[in-house]
Amino acid sequence: MTSEELFYQKKPAFGRVDSEKVQQYAEGYKAFLDRGKTERDAVTTIVNIAHEAGFVPYKRGMLLNPGDRIYCVNREKAVALAVIGAESLDNGIALTAAHLDAPRIDIRTVPLYEQDGMAFFKTHYYGGIKKYQWTAIPLELRGVVCVCRNGKMLKFRVNIGADPSDPKFVITDLLPHLASKQMEQKMTDGIKAENMNILIASKPSETEDETCGEKDKIKLAVMEYLHQKYGMTEIDFLSAELSCVPAFNACDVGFDRSMVGAYGHDDRVCAYPAATSLIALEGTPRRTAVCLLVDKEEIGSEGVTGMQSRFFDTFMADLCRAQGVYPEVCYEHSTCLSTDVCNAFDPNYADVSEARNDARINCGFALMKYSGARGKSGTSDATAELMAQIRLILENAGVPWQTAQLGRVDQGGGGTVAMYLANRNIDTVDAGVPVLSMHSPFEVISKLDLYCAFLGMGAFYQA
Ligand code: MN
Ligand code: MN
Repeated sequence: MTSEELFYQKKPAFGRVDSEKVQQYAEGYKAFLDRGKTERDAVTTIVNIAHEAGFVPYKRGMLLNPGDRIYCVNREKAVALAVIGAESLDNGIALTAAHLDAPRIDIRTVPLYEQDGMAFFKTHYYGGIKKYQWTAIPLELRGVVCVCRNGKMLKFRVNIGADPSDPKFVITDLLPHLASKQMEQKMTDGIKAENMNILIASKPSETEDETCGEKDKIKLAVMEYLHQKYGMTEIDFLSAELSCVPAFNACDVGFDRSMVGAYGHDDRVCAYPAATSLIALEGTPRRTAVCLLVDKEEIGSEGVTGMQSRFFDTFMADLCRAQGVYPEVCYEHSTCLSTDVCNAFDPNYADVSEARNDARINCGFALMKYSGARGKSGTSDATAELMAQIRLILENAGVPWQTAQLGRVDQGGGGTVAMYLANRNIDTVDAGVPVLSMHSPFEVISKLDLYCAFLGMGAFYQA
């Protein structure tokens, strides 16, 4: 055999997939990103796409037949989509799991105050961010307000800043002229979380209000605006979930338009192909194919909408019960691709990367045997047998794929939802799309890798 046959080499996948389809698929993805900047918005967008493709909402006890296409939403923040397979659930499911939440700036429960001629929202950041990246960029406000009036709840979706004509919001930064002390600090200390206040207004109310006086006139103007728009009073922030996310939309990056820059690729760059490849399935797959999109991964997968919630188990138990199958038996025979992003090798930060093992952009769908940190803690570490099984699926379908790891050993690390699925006795392996500038407000991915993820997950569901 020649060295080319004997050696493994990570190679760009150009020429191995239809480049027109690559560009076309990325257009749909960009539109999804712009609509789905929070987990709620992402769920709504995915459900709309599924609806148009004939998926129906699942109701407990529903009679299901092979080929049926269903979805089940968990509190607007997570969703399971399924295409019922020809075989019994005794034989397990082909499952993909991705997350829809992304690092962002959440608004606190008592957020509004006025100081020195400006009004601000206090915040609490969500997920692992480099705080300095979130100052001096346009932000938009998204979320939900549940106003309590006369013993009743009124719910409003908030979306201010997405439309080009909308106002934006911002966290201010210090001018370099006065920043000599700030610049000498460690990057973790340069911006303090308690100073990450969102600038929201500067004009006082014109209402004559004696109790308010001159002190809180800008705050009053903000409350008057919110009351007029949503019927809110200040206490209603307590029953609100408001977040600031970057106000810029997804766009092409590079002269060649080979990449997409956007907020929230982690992990919508996996969630979108996981859902759309399931929706694109034609006919009836052999095993039931399920796409699970969850919330709260960035803060440990906890809570009622996270991967550790029993939502998924309950959904599967419902499907299994209808076929007289024990969910435990179904899990035992199931296979899961935990689809999350991985770090793309970046030559500008080569000293923390592992050139042989880290994923590279444009080299295809990235399989990661394990993530974790410090001696592989916090990972499920897929078996050799499972790795081979997934390799064969991708190779047989002609899907470009590559290996991935998370940088140098002991450099840091991270986890995914993989272990929570593996803990359920489901064979699980991580696979995803390499990302540059991960967790920043403007992450970058390659369109080719995105399309390979779509092809790879489609092949997996059909295997
Ligand atoms: Mn992720
Ligand atoms: Mn992440």
